[in-house]
Amino acid sequence: MSEVRRATTCPYCGVGCGIIATCHDDAARRVSIAGDPQHPANQGRLCIKGSHLAETVGLEGRLLHPMVGGLRTSWEHALDQVATILASTIATYGRDAVALYVSGQLLTEDYYVANKLVKGLLGCAQIDTNSRLCMSSAVAAHKRAFGEDVVPQNYDDIEAADMIVLVGANAAWCHPILYQRIKAAKERRPELYVVVIDPRRTATCEIADLHLPLRPGSDISLWNGLLVYLDEHGGIDHDYCARHTQGLEATLQQARDEVGAIADVARICDLDAGHVAAFYQRFIDTPLTLSLFSQGSNQSLQGVDKGNALINCHLASGRLHRRGAGVLSLTGQPNAMGGREVGGLANQLAAHLELEHAEHRQLLAEFWRCAPISAYPGDKAVDLFAAIASGRIRAVWIIGSNPVVSLPEADRVGAALARCPHVIVSDCIADTDTTRHAHILLPALAWGEKDGSVTNSERRISRQRRFLPVPGEARADWWILSEVGRRLGGGSMFDYQNAAQIFREHAALSVYRNAGATRRRFHLAGLAQIDDAAYEQMTPQQWPVDAPAHPYADHHVSHADGRARLIPVRQAPDHDRRDAKHPWLLNTGRLRDQWHTMTRTGLSATLLAHTQEPYVDIHPDDAQALGIKDDDLVALHRQEAHSVLRARLSTQQRRGELFAPIHWTGVLSRSGRIGPLVHARCDPLSGQPDSKMSCVALQIPDIAWQASLVSAAALPLPPLYYATQIRLGQGFRQALAEVAGGMSFADWLHGLTLPTLEMITADDAAANWHRRAWLEQGRLVAFLAAPWPSTADLDWASSLLGQRLDGQQRKRLLALQAGTASSARGRRICSCFGVHEQTLIAAIRAGRLDSVAAIGQATRAGSNCGSCQSELAELLRREQALRTTAVQPGRALHQDPS
Ligand code: SF4
Repeated sequence: MSEVRRATTCPYCGVGCGIIATCHDDAARRVSIAGDPQHPANQGRLCIKGSHLAETVGLEGRLLHPMVGGLRTSWEHALDQVATILASTIATYGRDAVALYVSGQLLTEDYYVANKLVKGLLGCAQIDTNSRLCMSSAVAAHKRAFGEDVVPQNYDDIEAADMIVLVGANAAWCHPILYQRIKAAKERRPELYVVVIDPRRTATCEIADLHLPLRPGSDISLWNGLLVYLDEHGGIDHDYCARHTQGLEATLQQARDEVGAIADVARICDLDAGHVAAFYQRFIDTPLTLSLFSQGSNQSLQGVDKGNALINCHLASGRLHRRGAGVLSLTGQPNAMGGREVGGLANQLAAHLELEHAEHRQLLAEFWRCAPISAYPGDKAVDLFAAIASGRIRAVWIIGSNPVVSLPEADRVGAALARCPHVIVSDCIADTDTTRHAHILLPALAWGEKDGSVTNSERRISRQRRFLPVPGEARADWWILSEVGRRLGGGSMFDYQNAAQIFREHAALSVYRNAGATRRRFHLAGLAQIDDAAYEQMTPQQWPVDAPAHPYADHHVSHADGRARLIPVRQAPDHDRRDAKHPWLLNTGRLRDQWHTMTRTGLSATLLAHTQEPYVDIHPDDAQALGIKDDDLVALHRQEAHSVLRARLSTQQRRGELFAPIHWTGVLSRSGRIGPLVHARCDPLSGQPDSKMSCVALQIPDIAWQASLVSAAALPLPPLYYATQIRLGQGFRQALAEVAGGMSFADWLHGLTLPTLEMITADDAAANWHRRAWLEQGRLVAFLAAPWPSTADLDWASSLLGQRLDGQQRKRLLALQAGTASSARGRRICSCFGVHEQTLIAAIRAGRLDSVAAIGQATRAGSNCGSCQSELAELLRREQALRTTAVQPGRALHQDPS
């Protein structure tokens, strides 16, 4: 076939980077990926995840045919079944007994049809989305402040700002290309002042002039303290407030009632008073201040209030809706914003229409030509699965999401699905923790196969375009939803032929009866008539379309009087519920090289090389007190849930607090999921779970034995206390461990069912040391080492998979004598060029390198996507500290801001 080259968009985070994808061979699905230099979000750059998308587009593990009751069936039969289940459940139990749970991974067109199916045809609002978990608090804060869910700033405010405040946002790992924009701006203008507000000293702190490691959950006191400081030091813009806002006095009074002197703030937030004072004064002195906030602020019992407390400070000081000054929410998923546009949340309607407004419901019913829209909101994500558990919801259709991993109290989600009479799952992956509960499986198109649009964090709509052939019987989500809609009597409501037609309708709805002074700012004028050819060619553009780039450039917001609202908020006292049984505070978040539940990034051996097992970060002093060493296994408990993770000693942590990544699944590990440990307490306004402050117990298991197994093919996870499996180099790697009283090593080895192969062994029973290698026709197919060898040794052993080994090589393998080339290389830091920690240290020492750029020139590390630059800088700092011994490495970031 001829080469197919398309401009598309990255499917991971909300930065929304443009990609040029080229399919060189559609049968082999051989693809190359490059950043799109024309795309305004990234101007050609991609982070490590985007750069390695080509490794994730194979057909391994794909769901390619409809399945009912575990058997392959036709689309006709599967769709008939879905329609019958929805109709009969509604007929028997009522409309609220069915629900859709969708995803920020969906394209806007898919999302639009899902929402129309539920709110326009089923006559309820039982649809919610996994975006509830990442930014619904920001949505509610925007609505309270501005009267509409409008992100009022743009990415190019970064280059215009004189101070950037990152709030609960580890952008270096979670929004890497934006982080690199900030970094580049700071390199050009070193006077650009960067503040990071985060309990952890994350990789983002690498560019921070000031890091405020506040007590988790104390943000509102910090912002209320700033408001009081602004008032006392001439920082309030009274003219701006008088013309453009409401609520200043009441909000100020609330703040004054809560916090007085800076010393109060410092005590409540557990911060250095001098640093707080310096931050506050810097805020006053810097009119062009841009604040970026993300999950660290949103995922909280007071996520909405935190958002408004921050916005209050910007409104009071007139630092909003100007180039370089304002508040920008960073969305997690590629189309979280698109979902908001089409009303993907249970308490929203499409096109920024409001469920609680009778006039809006009427407008929408008129536009859709459907029965009156229900005035009652549906269940928000956590409540939705609780309703499944209680039996109130009896049929659920999960689309493009893996809630058995990602939701709080995830074991209960799994148990709820196990009891639910009807579980329908649309996905492109066959085996996930969630598809294991499905009665009906519907194969969806994956990235690279589907066509549509997404909207990023700065309201920029970009096309995702197909560049791969459609595999098996997979279909677009909008097609599947439309087919069900037709079967349920939706007729012409779902008569869609392509994504362009749906987009046109979506754009037309945004302008339908939307004019005048109180018009909604979500407005796609100019796109409502877009024809198929123009849609195909559509270049990235921000909404409002055909309007100034800043939706509130005139400072008139969407409230009826055009004035923004300052919202009085107060710090709730009881966020931290640690007790004697659960004395640790567990924070959760993302890794640099993984995405969500690893169904896609877990296919890339390159991305897996950065972090190979689920882990938990613990402060070294806490670890020492408990006798925990780096890489020990520890168990975390909360109620009946537990996870077993590798300990990583990290000075990034505050004492008494832990951090664990969210990504590991039950498919990849027996006990690495962190979701079961996260409590299901939510913000009362947004319904967003508080995923940052769960209280857990920590135990040190009595490990009897541990082993690593590398194999050419994936093997089933054994029923041991600890077991994980990932891709590694040429094959797969299992990390295994059992506790005292569990299965003995001998029994497990005896039961290990590899095909009859030649086996060579080496044992030292006294030292409890064992090695096995299995060969077929002289070629290595599997290798076992107990106890765990080093990662470098395993890398080397896996590099031999498939190779014919002579006698000498077999001896070296059993002894794990890799030779000089691979011994003790340490962690892989730069995934793009495969550069390991010890190589970097050697280069730094030999060349007396003193900058990340110099390391890049010497080793190439960090010179491609740049995602590892903060880790390179950390390494450099450690080496420099060793050289001088005068600097405390853990404190180097806490510069005196004065
Ligand atoms: Fe994709 Fe990385 Fe860009 Fe996010 S920053 S959209 S993950 S390339």
